[in-house]
Amino acid sequence: MTTDNINAPEKTLPEFKAALHAKCPKCHTGNMFANSMYGFSGQKMYTNCPYCNFQFEVEPGYFYVAMFVSYGMNIIEMLTFAIGTFMLTHSESPWLYVGILFAVTFILSPFNYRYSRIMLLYWLTPNLHFDPERAKKPWAER
Ligand SMILES: [Zn+2]
Repeated sequence: MTTDNINAPEKTLPEFKAALHAKCPKCHTGNMFANSMYGFSGQKMYTNCPYCNFQFEVEPGYFYVAMFVSYGMNIIEMLTFAIGTFMLTHSESPWLYVGILFAVTFILSPFNYRYSRIMLLYWLTPNLHFDPERAKKPWAER
């Protein structure tokens, strides 16, 4: 575990910015992920927020739901790139589309993995809201 974000922030991030930067949905301060999105060490998500100790997986198997979010994201990305490819090339070769869509799915998978969980926690989980009290002090000092 790294020691980032152990000091209280001067100002917490607004919701959209916090989501974009993969911050904890409860305190908007601690990081949800331990490493960068595109790296050779794979994706590592903290089990608890390093700042406020909020448990990200709110119940066992909770992130299975993120699979459906990721599915929806994939559909949108594939449609966008398929239509874009058609508009740019007017090709009728199925292999061009298969190749491009495979590449897109592969390249965007770390992005989908990360943002499907973020979207699930920020906007698709009822009763999970930003708590300004949690942002005031790191949990270890409370
Ligand atoms: Zn937190």
